[in-house]
Order: sequence, then structure tokens, then C-alpha cells
Amino acid sequence: MLAPLRFDVRQARGRRYPETPHPYRNDFQRDRDRIVHARAFRRLEDKTQVFAPGLSDHFRNRLTHTIEVAQIARTVAGVLELDLDLVEALALGHDVGHPPFGHSGECELNRLMKAHNAGFDHNLHALRIVEWFEQRYARFPGLNLTFEVREGIAKHSRDIEPGEVPELDAYLPGLRPPLEAQLIDLCDEIAYNTADLDDGYAAGLITLGMIGAELPDVALFRDDIESKYPGANEHMKVQEMVRALLNWLVSGLIEGTVDAARASGARDMEGVRHAPRRLAQYSSEIAAASEALKEFLRRHVYHSELVERDRRSSIDKLAQVFGTMLRHPDLLPEDYRELTAAVPLPRAICDYVAGMTDGFLLRTWEQLRSTGRLE
Ligand code: MG
Repeated sequence: MLAPLRFDVRQARGRRYPETPHPYRNDFQRDRDRIVHARAFRRLEDKTQVFAPGLSDHFRNRLTHTIEVAQIARTVAGVLELDLDLVEALALGHDVGHPPFGHSGECELNRLMKAHNAGFDHNLHALRIVEWFEQRYARFPGLNLTFEVREGIAKHSRDIEPGEVPELDAYLPGLRPPLEAQLIDLCDEIAYNTADLDDGYAAGLITLGMIGAELPDVALFRDDIESKYPGANEHMKVQEMVRALLNWLVSGLIEGTVDAARASGARDMEGVRHAPRRLAQYSSEIAAASEALKEFLRRHVYHSELVERDRRSSIDKLAQVFGTMLRHPDLLPEDYRELTAAVPLPRAICDYVAGMTDGFLLRTWEQLRSTGRLE
């Protein structure tokens, strides 16, 4: 399919600290394994995707979401004949920089940092994790990942223009990342759009009737399933529908990417890098369907009372922990206090809080409250 555009691991620019090759794993395979063995990866288990842990044992958390993204991305990359190891490493790492409490946790940290003329971005934070906070090797800080994996993290959601983000100047601003990296954001979107429909139904926020009334494309799948399995219960019909929808979205991504790659005239990896736009894209039909799906989920799931109620109290606690540590830096663990020699105090606190799981943040808040230090 797009084999000539595959990023060949032998072309990798290498690691910051040179290492001897492994006898039977190539560089991208090693990077994938380093991410899986990282603490930040394990902490994803107790980070909210959409529904807070504790509401049900069946909803996605950020770890199971990550595994779903990796599975979808591998399928797409396999069909397109791209590098599966690079895709898998990037998919497994795509959310390691996510703070507690999902998207609202990210917005709140960004808001708190704005008061210090800074901000918070989970992709930049992921880079700080893999470059610094993961301490597993005696010879170097961080995971010492290849350039391409770090670049893929830096450009996960969007490309960077020259001079736009000074700390990312090393990551080829103005150029597109490899096609493998371009796919991740869209596979992420497919994974959460379908999973949130599934979890939203399980949470009682969505019915088949609402889907039929508001999402005409998805309703076609529902009609098809109802004629095939008229006796199936609603739960089973939703499962069948979500699966059909997932296949449809993935096919649209494959088709859109092949069309864009052919239209661009790109012949190799350099052609991908110098293309005026990203080549990974949905077909136009799927792009519209995906937008409609997002809007539907915003209305009925993300802004639902069930999700909002939990969000408000979690976000208040995050802000209180941040504010208390700002006034009492002695409360920070020693390694983060030492970090203030290199970065301003608010950044060190932001790094510390962003690394927390939901559960750890709530325990920290409770401890500060019960010892009378919370402000
Ligand atoms: Mg994600």
C-alpha cells in the first residue's frame, strides 16, 4: 500500500546517549518496551479517561484506552505497510503525559500555570517524563528514546512551526513527522469516539433511540443490526453497532490516508516530511461523521451531570493541592524540591501534580486536609 513511505528503523537518527545495538530487538522495539516498563505507563491504570474510577469496573481508564489505541494503530499501520514497532511505541506512549482527571485536569493545570506566565501541555509533559523523570538507567536520565519516538510525542496533536515552541526547536519544526506518528492522533480519536459511545451507553447517558435521532450515519448500522438480529437485546445491539462503527471509521482512515498520500506525490519518507499537510487523514465522509460523533458525545456524555459532578470536586482538589504546595514548597518530595534549581517552583509543582494518579492526588489532598495544611 504505502510501503515506500514507511519509516525504516535503519534511518533512525539515534538516541541522545549512544547505546550498543541489542542482539534481537531493533531500536523502535526497544523504545516500545521501555515505554511499557515505565512507571508513567503503569500509572495510566489509575487515571481517568472520561468516567472516574469507581463509577463502574467496566469503563475505560487511560491504560485500557491506550491499549485500544495501540491495537487500532497497529491494524491501520499493518494494512498501510508502515513500521509497526514505531506505531506501537508511539501509541503506547501517547498519553503518558496526561495529568489526573482526564481532559479537565489538563485544562485546570494549564489555567493554574497561566498565572505564572506558563502553561501545561500533556505532550510537552510526556517529553519531560521520557527525557527526565523516568529514572531507570544508571548511564543516562530518562528512557533515552530514539529521536523519531520523541518527535512523535512532541508532534502528537499538531505540527510545530519554526520558532513557535522554543523547547521543541530540535524536533524539525516546519516538517511533518513520519506517517507512523501522524496516524496516532486519528487512531486515538477513533478509539475514544467509539469507546465513549459504549461507556456512555453503559452509564445510561445514551440510548439507541438518541443515536438513531441524532447520528444518521450510525443509525444505518443500527438498522442493519436490527434487521439481522431482531431478537437481540439492546445491549447486544449496541455492541454490534459500536463494532461496525469502529470498522467503518478505521476503513475511512485507511482510505483517506492512501488517497492523500497518492495525491501528494510523496515517494518516500522525505516526501512525507516535506508535504505541505499531514498525509494521515480521514476520507471526507468519515471526517464529517467523526465531528458529528464528537459533538454528540460532548452533549450527552462529556457535559452530562454524572461526569460534571465528579469533575468539579476533583478539579477543586487539584487546585488546592497545587496552591498549598506553592505556599509550602517544603511539602514537595525531595527530588522535586531539587528540581527548582533548574526550573521555577510552579513548574516543579506542575510536574509533580501532573505525574499523580487520580487516587494519589485524592490521598494527598486528604492528607493535607487532615493535617491542617490545606489552603
Ligand atoms: Mg488518548
